[in-house]
Amino acid sequence: MKDKKVVIFSAPSGAGKTTLVRYLLQRFPQLEFSVSATSRTPRGQEVHGYDYHFLSDAEFDERVENNEFVEWEEVYPGLRYGTLKSEVERIWAKGNVIAFDIDVCGGVNLKKMYGAQALSVFVCPPSLEVLRRRLETRGTDAPEAIERRLHKAEEELAFAPQFDVVIVNDHLDTAKAEAERVIGEWLMC
Ligand code: ADP
Ligand code: 5GP
Repeated sequence: MKDKKVVIFSAPSGAGKTTLVRYLLQRFPQLEFSVSATSRTPRGQEVHGYDYHFLSDAEFDERVENNEFVEWEEVYPGLRYGTLKSEVERIWAKGNVIAFDIDVCGGVNLKKMYGAQALSVFVCPPSLEVLRRRLETRGTDAPEAIERRLHKAEEELAFAPQFDVVIVNDHLDTAKAEAERVIGEWLMC
């Protein structure tokens, strides 16, 4: 077994990546979620330190200047997200495998960075129409934000072939079973 492994999940927003990652975290105790930092404000029931480290723009700037990020991206105009080095070290120090929930560009970058230590998974919605419905049903984003996310989704889908595995999240139970099989095999290598 290679030590210091990572599993990277990327997808257009609303494809169901968070749902699948949360499910896998319950199934595999050695998987630990990498809590990213973001400059966006919490939505819904999100909790600081659990879903994200919510930072002000000034705090985010300071961490960029101090070189505290493994990677960061301005995923949406004015909204930055990044993986803290301290988070990666904390999880590996416990002997756990890191689970990243990260945007598509960040996912491609992390795969390049970690190479054979990483399994990268692209979660694909069955269609853009279904993606729109999921974002609307989730009810956490304003209509303009949904449009922005859908527009970006079209570009993001083109990145799927750069990932090790693509899981189409149509029926949730099927997608969960496939994700569990793929990750289970990877963790045993
Ligand atoms: P992401 O993390 O990719 O933005 P979420 O996991 O938040 O996506 O899922 C977006 C919405 O779609 C949520 O309301 C979630 O409950 C729902 N959802 C996820 N997978 C499915 C599925 N296979 N069928 C129907 N709804 C789903
Ligand atoms: P949301 O606002 O829906 O929570 O996340 C928006 C996007 O930012 C998602 O695609 C999510 O995966 C991505 N994201 C979350 N954390 C990080 C991170 O640390 N780095 C990068 N590059 N993207 C992230």
